[in-house]
Amino acid sequence: MSGFFHEGELVGVVTTQPLDRMLDYKAPEGGCHLGAFVEVPLGPRKVLGVVWGPGKGDFDYFKIRSVIRVLDVPPMRDEMKEFLTRAGAYTLTPLSAMVRLATRSPGLGDPPAMRKVFRMGTGEVDRMTPAREKVLAVLEEFGGLSFTLKELAEQAGVGSSVVKGLAAQGAVREEDSPRDLPFARLDPSRPGKELTEDQATAVVALDRDGYSTTLLKGVTGSGKTEVYLEAVAACLRKGRQALVLLPEIALTSEFLTRVEDRFGARPAEWHSGVTMTERRRVWRMVADGGAELVVGARSALFLPYRDLGLIVVDEEHDSSYKQEEGVLYNARDMTVLRASLCGAQVVLASATPSLETWANAEAGKYARVELTSRFGDAVLPEMRAIDMRREDLPGSRWVSPTLQNEIAKRIELGEQSLVFLNRRGYAPMTLCRACGHQIVCEHCDARMVEHRFLKRLMCHQCGETKPMPTACPSCEAEDRLAPIGPGVERMGEELAELFPDARVVVLSSDLYGTSRELKAHIEAIAEGGADIIIGTQLVAKGHNFPHLTLVGVIDADLGLQGSDLRAAEKTFQLMRQVAGRAGRAEKRGVALLQTFQPEHPVITSILNGDEEAFWKAEAAEREQAGMPPYGRMAGVILSGPEVGPVFDLGNALARNDGALKRVGAQVYGPAPAPIARIRGRHRVRLLVKAPKGAALQGALAEWIRPVRLKGDLRLQIDIDPQSFF
Ligand code: ADP
Ligand code: ZN
Repeated sequence: MSGFFHEGELVGVVTTQPLDRMLDYKAPEGGCHLGAFVEVPLGPRKVLGVVWGPGKGDFDYFKIRSVIRVLDVPPMRDEMKEFLTRAGAYTLTPLSAMVRLATRSPGLGDPPAMRKVFRMGTGEVDRMTPAREKVLAVLEEFGGLSFTLKELAEQAGVGSSVVKGLAAQGAVREEDSPRDLPFARLDPSRPGKELTEDQATAVVALDRDGYSTTLLKGVTGSGKTEVYLEAVAACLRKGRQALVLLPEIALTSEFLTRVEDRFGARPAEWHSGVTMTERRRVWRMVADGGAELVVGARSALFLPYRDLGLIVVDEEHDSSYKQEEGVLYNARDMTVLRASLCGAQVVLASATPSLETWANAEAGKYARVELTSRFGDAVLPEMRAIDMRREDLPGSRWVSPTLQNEIAKRIELGEQSLVFLNRRGYAPMTLCRACGHQIVCEHCDARMVEHRFLKRLMCHQCGETKPMPTACPSCEAEDRLAPIGPGVERMGEELAELFPDARVVVLSSDLYGTSRELKAHIEAIAEGGADIIIGTQLVAKGHNFPHLTLVGVIDADLGLQGSDLRAAEKTFQLMRQVAGRAGRAEKRGVALLQTFQPEHPVITSILNGDEEAFWKAEAAEREQAGMPPYGRMAGVILSGPEVGPVFDLGNALARNDGALKRVGAQVYGPAPAPIARIRGRHRVRLLVKAPKGAALQGALAEWIRPVRLKGDLRLQIDIDPQSFF
C-alpha cells in the first residue's frame, strides 16, 4: 500500500461518531495520505475522521461522497493507529471512541491564523482600580505568557472592557501572534544536580535504547525525580520527545519549576486546567516536534507525538491513572503498550508500586532499579502505632492524648505536624437524634456529607448539594441533627480547640475555588505558614514540606474496612506515602498511626517497613485466589432508571455464559453494585474471573453481542477494574 490516495480513490474513514464501522469516501481533489485527518459529510453534518485505509468498495461508487477537506495537521502515524486499535481491543472500546480520545484538541480543523493576544505592557495606568489590578496581577503571575482577550478577562475575573481599557493605555500590550508557537527549546546540556552514587547508578541503568519498562523504586525524597529528569535529558539528546505523566494536577507547578531549573525552559502542559488555546497549541506542536517534553495527566498519552522516546509515569500506583468514566483505561498499562509500539522507554516511578508492577518486575518482565536511601541526611521516619484501645478519649474526639502530646512538642520546636484523615467535609454522616434518620442523597444510595465550610450537605457520588437543614427531614424535630464521625473540617475544629495558639490549616481540594489558589496555599504552608496541617490524600502526593517532622494518622484502619480487592495494597501505599512526608530535610520524622488493630498484618508490615514481605504475602494471597495480577478480571456494570429491567438483563447475561465458559471464565452476580444507585440510576454488577492466559476480551465481546439495550439501559465493561463502586 502506497500510503497515498489519488482523487476519487476510495478511502475508509473512522469518524469520531459512535458508529461501529469504517465508512467509505472518495479521496478529495489533490488526494490524501493514509492517516490524514479529514472532514467528511455524515448525513447532513460535517464530522471529523481519520483515513484508516483503503475503502471497502462494497457500496455503489456513484453514491459515495467525497472527503470535504484534509485538515492542515500531520497525518496520524501508523504507530498511533496501531496503538488506538490495540488499546480499543483491550478495553473493548469502539475505534471511534479511541479516535475521539486522540483528537481532543479544539479547532483542529482551523487553518493556521493570526489572532490578537495580550501581554504585559510598559505604559502607565492613569487610574488604578481593583479590576485593573487583577488583570495586571494575572499577567505578572504568568510571566511572559500571552492571553486572548477572553482568557485574560476570565482568569482575572473581570469584564473584557477592563482589559481593553488597559490596552488603550499601553499597560497591557495587544499584538498579533501566530496561533500556535513552538515551545522554547529545552537544553539537556545544562548541568544537573550532582548525583549520589545510588542515583548515578540508577541513571546508567536507565540508559537504554528501544522499548523497555523499568520500575524506579525509592522512598519519597530518594531522588527519583532527579533520576528520571536525567533520563529525560538523555532522551532529548537523542532528539526524541519525552512525556511525564503525573497524577495530581493541582501539584504540577513544583514539577514545572524543577524542569525549568534543569533545562532552562518550561515544558508543554496537558491537563484539564489548560486553556483551549493552549491545548490546541500543545496538540499541534507535539505533532510537529515543536514540543519536546509534555507534562500531563493520563490523556496526554493520546497526543500525536512525532517521535516519542520516553514515558515516565510518576507515582505509578496512583488510582487516578485509571479513567473511570467514558473509555475505561488504565494509563499505566496503556503507556507500556504505546511504548512497545514506538520503541520508547517506560519509567514507572513509585515509593510503593502497585502489586501488578511489582509482580512484573519479580517475573523479569520489567527491569527494576532501586534508590535505597533518602537524599542527604534525611532518613525514613520512625513509625509507631498508637493503640486506640488503650487511649482515653471521649466519644466525639479523635486526637489521642499520645498524639496530642507529640504535636505539642513539635509546636514548641517550631516544627510542623500533619494530621492525616482521608475524608473530606465535616462529618461523614448526619443523624437525627430524635428518630435515627440518616440523611442520604435523593439520587444515590450514599450518605450526604456535611461540609460546614460551605454550610451545605454534599453527595460525594454525584456532587449534589443542599443547604444544611435545621429540622430532621423525616420526623421534623428541630435541632436534633448531629454530625457522626470525623471529616477533615471537624479535625480542624478539634485541633484548634486543643491548640488555641497554633496556626491550624485544613488542606482539602474542596476548600479552594481554583487549583491555582490551592497551589499558592500549599506553597505558603510548605514555607512554614502553619503549625498543624490537616489533610486528605491530597497532601500525600508529591509536595515537599521541609519543616514537617510529625505525621499523625487519625484512622489507619479506614481503608481496611471495605471489601475491595486492593484494600490492603491501597492502605499500605497510602500510609507509607503519608509517613514519607515527615522528615524530608535534616531532621528525622515520626509517623504515628492511630489504630484499633495494631496486630493486623497490613498495619504490622507498614510499621516494620518490611515492604518485600508485604508484597510477597499479598501476592501469595492473590495468587491463591486467582485474582489479578495472577488471574484476569472484568467488571460489568448495568444501569437504568428502573431496578427490575437492570436485574433482568443481569440475570440473562449470567445464564447465557457459554462464551465465557469456553475460555474457562466464570461469572459472579448479578448483585447490586456497592453503590446501588448513582444519579438516580440503579446499578447492578457482574464480575467475570478468568485464568491468566484466557482470551478474555474475545469471550466478553461474544458474550455481550446478543444484548440489545432497550430504553435507557446501559452496559459498561471495565477490564481490570480498580475500584468496586
Ligand atoms: P523523589 O522524587 O524520590 O521524591 P526528589 O527527586 O524529589 O525525590 O528529591 C527529593 C529532594 O532532594 C528534592 O528537593 C531534590 O531536589 C533533592 N535532591 C535529590 N537528589 C539530589 C542531588 N543529587 N543533589 C541535590 N539535591 C537532590
Ligand atoms: Zn448523589
